[in-house]
Amino acid sequence: MTEPTFRIEPHATPVDAGTRAGMLVDPGFGRVFTDHMVVINYKEGMGWHDARVQARAPIQMDPASSVLHYAQEIFEGMKAYRTEDGGAALFRADANAARFARSAERMAMPPLPEPLFLESVRQLVAADRDWIPGQEGGALYLRPFMFASEVFLGVKPSSEYLYMVIGSAVGAYFKSGTPTVSLWVSADYTRAAPGGTGSAKCGGNYAASLLAQSEAIRHGCDQVVFLDAVERRWVEELGGMNLFFVFDDGSMITPPLRGTILPGITRDSILTLARDMGITVREERYAIDQWRADATSGRLREAFACGTAAVVTPIGTVRGADGDFRVGDGATPGELTLKLRTALVDIQRGLAPDRHGWVEKL
Ligand code: PMP
Repeated sequence: MTEPTFRIEPHATPVDAGTRAGMLVDPGFGRVFTDHMVVINYKEGMGWHDARVQARAPIQMDPASSVLHYAQEIFEGMKAYRTEDGGAALFRADANAARFARSAERMAMPPLPEPLFLESVRQLVAADRDWIPGQEGGALYLRPFMFASEVFLGVKPSSEYLYMVIGSAVGAYFKSGTPTVSLWVSADYTRAAPGGTGSAKCGGNYAASLLAQSEAIRHGCDQVVFLDAVERRWVEELGGMNLFFVFDDGSMITPPLRGTILPGITRDSILTLARDMGITVREERYAIDQWRADATSGRLREAFACGTAAVVTPIGTVRGADGDFRVGDGATPGELTLKLRTALVDIQRGLAPDRHGWVEKL
């Protein structure tokens, strides 16, 4: 397919406006879906073809579809925001397109041309624009994904794929209502090893993180924090968020991208915004023992997690096999954390100037 042209198929039974308004009051995360979906097929020899926007509906799959056996699957997560003037905006969608292509390469999948990725997302937002919640913290979460659909049980890269985009109206990611989250340091499980798939956004990484996440919940924590797989010493990231640390001299660090961490687009945006503010921010390894020591001594002032779903979320307490420690008083979000969060959200909602060309109005 040379040009991203999409066939728009009429919707059979769209949700009526009244029902939709009710569903958007408090949508939670990932349960309220829009009326449409994008589908594009790939077949070896034909390339990408048959791009369409159609009514959201279940898909039929052969039980021997290779994704069901060997997990050749990747995805993205991004949001369309309701702007102050009632319009819609995408945030750094080009970065999601580029990451999707990198994930595809790591998983031996044919990359979807980035213009086609971008157009697919715009098409879904155009079709489902009314599903973007207007309330603070609300957004239309967009989930582009692609999976191996060849009917074959041999272990090899599939010769056929399906790319799709679905949309979900979302509210705040964390339900608990507390201003900070608690973390469980996983001692038994790691997320990604050198040479593995840690920097790709593939479903398998998340499947592998679920047991550690259950362990976190069992220990009364909101999220798991993973350490590196080699020394079990360096703090890497959460199951679905990157990490930042703020020190008493006003400087910040975040773990470096060395192939085992997902290169978060929020992480990259925070790095840029912090530097814009004149903050010294380094991509530097941080050991769990150092985190504990710095939190105890007060050298560490703030810690926060960041990602598309949860935006910027302050960390209150950290629990592990060696006991608990708190960041600050464990309950009050840090000043810089909130400042960075506001700076980011204001750009996303069109309230602050878009100095880096991150926002695409739709
Ligand atoms: N790490 C992991 C493992 C993630 O799944 C995500 C969510 N995509 C992030 C970090 C944050 O990435 P982003 O800011 O692009 O949402």
